[in-house]
Order: sequence, then C-alpha cells, then structure tokens
Amino acid sequence: MPESTVYDVAVVGGGIVGLSIAYCCAKAGLRVVVLDEGDDHRKASWATAGIIGAQPFEQAKTPFTRLLGLGGKLHAIWAQELRELTGIDVGYRRCGLIEFARDETEAHALRSAAGHYRAHGIDWQELSPQRLAELEPAVQHDYVSAYLVPATAQARPPAVLAALRVACSMLGATFFTPSGTVVGFLVHGERVDGVVTVTGPVYAEATVVAAGAWSGPLLSRLGLRFDTEPVRGQVCLLAGPVGLVRHILMVGRRYIVPRFDGLYLVGSTQERVGYDGSVTAHGVGHLLAFACALCPPLADAKLHRTWAGLRPGNPDGKPFIGPVPGYERLFIAAGHLRSGFVTGPATGLVMKQLIVGEEPEVPLWPFRPDRPVTAATLDDDEDS
Ligand SMILES: Cc1cc2nc3c(=O)[nH]c(=O)nc-3n(C[C@H](O)[C@H](O)[C@H](O)COP(=O)(O)OP(=O)(O)OC[C@H]3O[C@@H](n4cnc5c(N)ncnc54)[C@H](O)[C@@H]3O)c2cc1C
Repeated sequence: MPESTVYDVAVVGGGIVGLSIAYCCAKAGLRVVVLDEGDDHRKASWATAGIIGAQPFEQAKTPFTRLLGLGGKLHAIWAQELRELTGIDVGYRRCGLIEFARDETEAHALRSAAGHYRAHGIDWQELSPQRLAELEPAVQHDYVSAYLVPATAQARPPAVLAALRVACSMLGATFFTPSGTVVGFLVHGERVDGVVTVTGPVYAEATVVAAGAWSGPLLSRLGLRFDTEPVRGQVCLLAGPVGLVRHILMVGRRYIVPRFDGLYLVGSTQERVGYDGSVTAHGVGHLLAFACALCPPLADAKLHRTWAGLRPGNPDGKPFIGPVPGYERLFIAAGHLRSGFVTGPATGLVMKQLIVGEEPEVPLWPFRPDRPVTAATLDDDEDS
C-alpha cells in the first residue's frame, strides 16, 4: 500500500456495518478503504439469520425504530440495486413471520408487542388454529396464541456480504484483507490520521471503527472504553423437503428461517462466553429439540451444517454510532447486538451523512458514543 495515498474514509471491519458504510461512502464519490481480517466465518454478519423486521420507516416514532425502519427499507432497495450492479441475488424475500406464545405470560407479552406494532404502523394479525394450520400445516399446534407479521423479510447474509464487497470494488473502494488487520491508530495530538495495520500505515481523512465485537478492544489501544462484549449465537442448518415451512417461525428467542431451497436455519443461542466461537453439543442439542418440537417432520431433515457467531454487545441495548470523544476524525459504528443485520445499511447511510456533514436521517443522540450508559440486563439462555 503506497504511503502517499490518503483515503477519504478508512473503514475498519468488513461485516455488514463496515461494508454498508463503505458502500454509502463509495456511492457518494468518496475514496474508501476497507480494512478487514478477512475470514468471513469470523463475522457475526456471516453467521446471522438474516431476519429483517417489518418496521416501516415512515411510521417509526423513536430513533431506534427509525434506525430499524431505515435498515429494512434500504435492504429492500439494495437487494434490487445490488442485483443490477453485481448480478448477485441476495435472497431478499418478504416471507412473513409467525410468532408463537407458549403460555399466558408469553401471550401477554405478544399482545403488548402487537400494541407496539400497531402504534408503529406494523401490520399484524392474530391467527386462529385453523388459519395457522392452513398457513403452516407442518407446525405442531399446542400454542396459546400465534401472530402473523406479513411484512417481515429475510436475506441470505453471505450473499449480502459478497454483493456489497463486489459493489464497493466496482465503485472504486480498496480492500485490504487479511493484510488489513488493524493493530493501532495514527494519532497526532487529538487527530487521528488513519490506522496501523499488520503490514503498515493507512492514511485517511476519516477513520471509522466498525469491527463488531472487536471494536472495544481495538479502541482500548487509545485508552478508550467501549463495551462491545461478544454474545455468542449458535445456529444449525437443516436440509429437508422444499416448502415444509413457509414463514419465519419464532418462539421466544428461537426461530426457524425457511430458505426456499429446502434449507432451514434454526437459531439461536445467546451466551456470554467471551471470544469463543465454538459450536457446542449442548447448544446444538437445544436448537434441534426446539425445531423438531415446533415442526416434527424436521426430525427427518439432514443436519447440513452448524456454526456460531459473536454478536457485538452493548451495555444499554443501543449501538454506538458517531464521533469518538476526545479524538478528531475518528468514528465508531459498533455494538448492534441482535439487530445489526437489519440496522447495518441504515448505520452505513447515517455514518456517511455524518462524515460528509449532512443531517443524518435518524436522530443519533441515543447512540452517541459519549452518552452515559446504564447497563441493561441481557439474559443469557437458561438452557444453553
Ligand atoms: C446467530 C446470530 C443470528 C443473528 N440474527 C440476526 C438477525 O436475524 N437480524 C439481525 O438484524 N441481526 C442478527 N444478528 C446480529 C447481527 O449479525 C450483528 O449485529 C451484525 O452482524 C454485526 O455486524 P458488524 O459488522 O458490526 O460485525 P461483524 O460482522 O462481526 O464484523 C466485524 C468485522 O471486523 C473485523 N475485525 C475485527 N477486528 C479487526 C481488526 N483489528 N482489524 C480489521 N478487522 C477487524 C472482523 O474480522 C469482522 O470481519 C445475529 C447474530 C448472530 C450471531
């Protein structure tokens, strides 16, 4: 990498958040470099289920629901845009989601969620047992209630990452992977002039740390404290008959996502085990038991693949998006926990807007990196 090159934006991290920032900046004509360790299987964005919530942007009332709504809207637009630009189909489908309550407590929680949905413009319907049987004949019917959210969508995460990388390259972005592993920052007084990688310095007018769960440890090299604690999620992929399940099925935090080609993604655990991306017999066992109880014919499906990803945690339920306090030209976009696949594109757009001095489309004050954080409770799985 020639030392004389000064990029407009250096993005550290090539997950959905980093690539979305790179894509938005490259589309705006900025000279972008993406620095990434290079192993797709290490990314939470590769491991993700790819569920895209149904929040409509125009009717979202809070900053967080606006971030969700903008993310969902951009996923739909980008799916078409990326196919036209790169020829890659990212598997975007509005398949709908059915959420189940196992007992009265969950039924109450679902009724409350339905009230929230209504207030935020999300279409939903309570399903009678007959209607549920029509929609999903293979599902076991011993639930207290079931709700359909028709506008919930999904995309195939590895295809989204591949399409974004190709699109960014076509728009002139430079990629350093795996030589892009960042080990420090180029600091002059309070100004950050880029990063130090394992193969040398990379200079940039603006540097964005979007390194997922690794963002906190990386920024600790500047003496900064950002809690992006990893939260492991294990997943199983089953291969069965096409069309056995048609909607995303959700019970508590567990779900089955039908991929339309006979693959069924079953997820996921929520575990705080540090930077351990292992798949465990215990985790997989619980996921398989859940899937076969909800949809008994899946017991005959083949166990196609298993994996785990490390979600980037945050201390108060919200990501960090904005300028890093105490340093000029340094930004963070990390800590998206369970919603980073949906909100990644929205984070990319608002980060580009911040960098070029435009008004961000989402109010960013709740996500300010210098906000006082009150720790929210994040329950680990009781059973994994
Ligand atoms: C099992 C599972 C299911 C999920 N399901 C959903 C879902 O359905 N919907 C949803 O919205 N969200 C979901 N999520 C959450 C979502 O996947 C994450 O919030 C999101 O992917 C985070 O993206 P990221 O780009 O911040 O991090 P990552 O994808 O982890 O990317 C970070 C990148 O930074 C790189 N990196 C780290 N350190 C350095 C360094 N020093 N130098 C250079 N590069 C570095 C890493 O190698 C990695 O490529 C799920 C997560 C998991 C694990």
